Amino acid sequence: MFSKHVTEELSAYCNGELSPAESRQVAEHLIGCHQCRAGLEQIKLGVKLAENIRQFAAPDSLWPALESRLESGLEAEPLHARTSSSKQSRASFKLWLPRLAAVAAGVVLAIGIGAWWLYTRESRPFWEVARLNGAPTIGSSRMNAKGRLGIGQWLETDGSSRAQIDVGSIGHVEIDPNTRVRLLETKLTEHRLELARGRMSAKIWAPPRLFFVDTPSGVAADLGCAYTLEVDEVGASLLRVTSGWVALQLRDIESIVPAGAACATRPGVGPGTPYFEDASQTFRTALTKLDFELEDTDWSKIPALNLVLMEARHRDTLTLWHLLYRVQGRQREQVFERMAALSPPPKEVTRDGCLRLDEKMLHLWKGYLENGWSNDSGLKKAWVDTWTRGLGKVKSWEGKR
Ligand SMILES: [Zn+2]
Repeated sequence: MFSKHVTEELSAYCNGELSPAESRQVAEHLIGCHQCRAGLEQIKLGVKLAENIRQFAAPDSLWPALESRLESGLEAEPLHARTSSSKQSRASFKLWLPRLAAVAAGVVLAIGIGAWWLYTRESRPFWEVARLNGAPTIGSSRMNAKGRLGIGQWLETDGSSRAQIDVGSIGHVEIDPNTRVRLLETKLTEHRLELARGRMSAKIWAPPRLFFVDTPSGVAADLGCAYTLEVDEVGASLLRVTSGWVALQLRDIESIVPAGAACATRPGVGPGTPYFEDASQTFRTALTKLDFELEDTDWSKIPALNLVLMEARHRDTLTLWHLLYRVQGRQREQVFERMAALSPPPKEVTRDGCLRLDEKMLHLWKGYLENGWSNDSGLKKAWVDTWTRGLGKVKSWEGKR
């Protein structure tokens, strides 16, 4: 694992220019480093912007001059001639203007071609779908054993049908009965599905943050591996991660959910605090109250936060770490104190720093806590193995093109 930040490698990483071993190291670092993930987002935004550059026609007034220059094949006066007089200078500038416009148009065209190449290199405008049971539909038509889901199309299953989608070359998604999903985007920097209702299970071996699922109350961003996501009739969702990590986000609220943990979202609220599914029933109920039903004070005499802190085990620092950001004042102090009792922070991490939400300190502490968040010491290895296998698939698929 890279011990230092990987900012300088991100561009090459994003464009697939690193060796598999280097890519894997960068991906591993990205899982744990908030700062470098932010850098990755910026680079992806740059690629996106390049894709959206449009060509603009030169103003009409320029075209006659440009055309006559092209037809006559005359060389424009060299720029040093401008020094002779201001009149000559203006005339010479007029001659140069079309040339500059032509150069600018050429640059825009070159960027456009580059972006187009980048866009088409790994993108396909549809995903392959296989019917597993019953009669799923794509658009309004019943699908055969195989089908194709185009961008903007809905795939829908009834009470007795199921389907599997191949997500380009990076993984697959199983669609359970009574589910409605739509393909929103599939390209080099982003594969995106919308889950309107029902349940899906995803297994993804792409580098982090290439595969996204939009739900009515949050976006799941894959950080490698496997999870299930379900959306109920009112748009609330539940994410359960079976291996690797998934980030659940809405606007500036983000929950990072490791294997064995779950996270709920509610419309208008966004992601709740992630928790391990083997935490006590009291812990989980109190957390739900804290996240989504604060106004309900009748259910217990003890405040929800106190119950969460009382019931927290070492492993539940996952929940407490996220809670630090979500509570304030005395409550934040209480959360810090409980965390410090369960797992004392390294010496670089101070109480004051944590209470003022110092990013660097909180991520350093998180790095220490993460060891206790995985059930299985082989988890990270499994993630890396899966990812490396996936990379092999991507490479062989690229080779076939
Ligand atoms: Zn970093």
